[in-house]
Amino acid sequence: MNSAGGAARVANEEAPARPLFTPEALAAATGGQLAGTAHPVTGISIDTRSLKPGDAFFAIAGEKTDGHAYVEAALAAGAALCVVARAKAGAFAADARLLVVEDVLHALEATGWAARARSGAGIVAVTGSVGKTTTKEALRLALAADGETHASAASYNNHWGVPLSLARLPPEARFGVFEIGMNHPGEITPLVRMVRPQVAIITTVEPVHIAQFNSVEEIADAKAEIFDGLEPGGTAVLNLDNPHFARLKASAEARGVGRIVTFGAADGADVRLTDVALKPHCSVAVVDVMGTPITLKVGMPGRHIVQNMLAVLAAAKLLGADLALAALALGRLKPPPGRGVPVLLAVKGGEATLIDESYNANPASMRAAIDVLGRTPVGPRGRRVAVLGDMLELGAEADALHAGLAEAIVADRIDQVFCCGPHMHALWQALPPERRGGYAVHATHLEPMVAAAIRAGDTLMVKGSNGSRMGPLVKSLTERF
Ligand code: ATP
Ligand code: MG
Repeated sequence: MNSAGGAARVANEEAPARPLFTPEALAAATGGQLAGTAHPVTGISIDTRSLKPGDAFFAIAGEKTDGHAYVEAALAAGAALCVVARAKAGAFAADARLLVVEDVLHALEATGWAARARSGAGIVAVTGSVGKTTTKEALRLALAADGETHASAASYNNHWGVPLSLARLPPEARFGVFEIGMNHPGEITPLVRMVRPQVAIITTVEPVHIAQFNSVEEIADAKAEIFDGLEPGGTAVLNLDNPHFARLKASAEARGVGRIVTFGAADGADVRLTDVALKPHCSVAVVDVMGTPITLKVGMPGRHIVQNMLAVLAAAKLLGADLALAALALGRLKPPPGRGVPVLLAVKGGEATLIDESYNANPASMRAAIDVLGRTPVGPRGRRVAVLGDMLELGAEADALHAGLAEAIVADRIDQVFCCGPHMHALWQALPPERRGGYAVHATHLEPMVAAAIRAGDTLMVKGSNGSRMGPLVKSLTERF
């Protein structure tokens, strides 16, 4: 009894935080000056709401707030030190634990560079129009099965998210996984030069954020910037099934990329999907990973998720991770909040299922979610219901891209569609009348229509761009039932 109790206690205790940087090492990396008596740094933070004692707090100036306003709160919460700009350092107590630098964002980048420079980890960078976070989270699971793995948090993939994630890379990590995103050409190059991956994945190229580009080809070219930071002899992992594959391959070759590994269902893919069973809550895939056959369960449903797993297996193989352990781990993949999480609703006479896809939407992810809904078995009285909000940032093509979903809705046997927002009106008009559930410009007006229509046995999938307010619609439906 004693020994069992003792073992349980040890297992439940949090491991003591490990040192990440000494204050002196951080000062050397950033070219800053220490003031006060700093403590050893065990983590990196830019937000006092999630700061842990021992974190170095970087007072970044964001669009809405300036981190310098939170320095005192950070120190009170146990920050090891606060990195502040020289121009603003005079505002703080003379004995405050500070690292005074010229520019705080540059100091965060320099910290990222320093963490990368000392690391012996196998590093993967992931970009693409959709599927970056899914791929990154799957890589976190797959690689961690074989060795200590550090991965970016959430979708921290921009000019502060990438250096922050890199600065957090523990010196002991065996693997590092970094998501890199972009809204404009030229954004990926400086970020990937910081990350210096041995493996660079482009998940897909799709019309996402197209309003900022003249064509999908321009999007492909911007994604190809990921090759700019590839380590000498590094490998580009490319989607052979994507229509822009040839363009990406040419970009990689023009940049002197050492090796290209392809993934997909197409003949000749180095990591090839040879068989797949798509089930409502998971998939079972058979994959030839560069000559090694692997059968795996993927813990999230959808053909698109399986596609991402091919890239994960490619990277695991290239970094020398154990493929069998990686395949086993991918069975535990779970949807992050707002990206396919099922919720049960207690409605009159029984239960309905709501699939919460409200986090975001674009034509590629919308089609993928409609496809998954189409594969969901419903009882004799149940229906497949899609509640769809506007897909934003699609430029001049927006209405046509919305109306274009009608075909998939019919092919995937979606019974009822509720549409929300000015662009979704184009889909509403394109739908066969018997599939029209309801239309409103605002989510608050659509919610009561959806609530009145839900029946026991239905499966509803709710999806739209963040700005289309489908998240609050999901919240009020779940509160109502
Ligand atoms: P963001 O730019 O918002 O960070 P992301 O690239 O990280 O997005 P995910 O969060 O992984 O992408 O997925 C976004 C949406 O795209 C989800 O609805 C997901 O189901 C869908 N998706 C993921 N992978 C693919 C894919 N290969 N093809 C189509 N849709 C996909
Ligand atoms: Mg993401």
